[in-house]
Amino acid sequence: MRTITTINELRDVLRAERREGRTVGFVPTMGFLHEGHISLVNRAKEICDVVVMSIFVNPLQFGPNEDFDRYPRDIPRDSKLAEEAGVSYLFTPGVEEMYPSKMLTNVSVAEVTEPLCGASRPGHFDGVATVVTKLFNIVQPHYAFFGQKDAQQLAVIEQMVYDLSMPVTIVPCPTLREADGLALSSRNVYLSAEEREQALALSRSLRQAQAMVEAGERDVATIRDAVASEISQQPLAVIDYVELLQYPRLGYTARLAEGDRVLLALAVKFGKTRLIDNIIMNV
Ligand code: AMP
Repeated sequence: MRTITTINELRDVLRAERREGRTVGFVPTMGFLHEGHISLVNRAKEICDVVVMSIFVNPLQFGPNEDFDRYPRDIPRDSKLAEEAGVSYLFTPGVEEMYPSKMLTNVSVAEVTEPLCGASRPGHFDGVATVVTKLFNIVQPHYAFFGQKDAQQLAVIEQMVYDLSMPVTIVPCPTLREADGLALSSRNVYLSAEEREQALALSRSLRQAQAMVEAGERDVATIRDAVASEISQQPLAVIDYVELLQYPRLGYTARLAEGDRVLLALAVKFGKTRLIDNIIMNV
């Protein structure tokens, strides 16, 4: 594995790889790697000859009162994990390399960015779409790998790639969980033992909702209420949202119909830590 910190150097090595006819796979991350990130690398290795991982905590996608400054960072640890996973090039640019001067350009996707995290985190998806566009222009990957853990982000990126005819194939990857159901996240390290225990209500409520749908429940409000009430039983949990929307367009619906593909998504705060989780269901 080679670690690269400048855009020019990464461009040079990847130009050479492409000239040799190798397919380039790209896994963008914010680091503090866990098995979820590694599962994207493993998927990339199945499809691609060369795997590029970026680690960049992107200031554009954090709001003024969010956790940009205290987001966990550990490049030495991440380098070891990335190398063991089989990453070929690890791109770890600093903020001044990515944004040497004030950004006057912004990539903004409409509609799919409006509900869910778009509503609670204004500007977040503009920051995501802008940095992913910039990273795609630097890496020029044939394939890019995104987790369904961030289902709305995936919908935004797919829409952006489609609308702007970006020459990259987006590969969605399933959410990796701990044995007890907690979705892996870099932010899990913030949780106290008590919060972590109560956070199990997230995945549990999603499984219960799935069972309700499988048993024939079609009323969206009933399903949402059941999820919210399961989570509200946890004293430390503060619900940001629980929503059931069509996927991937993220339109509202009051009743499920056979053949619908829907996203049940939730965001819940435990103290300062905001966790998200979701499932995608085919009705
Ligand atoms: P992040 O470093 O949190 O920005 O995540 C980088 C990529 O890893 C995104 O495409 C995420 O959706 C994906 N990811 C994060 N957590 C998981 C998980 N538990 N399972 C699968 N993919 C994940």
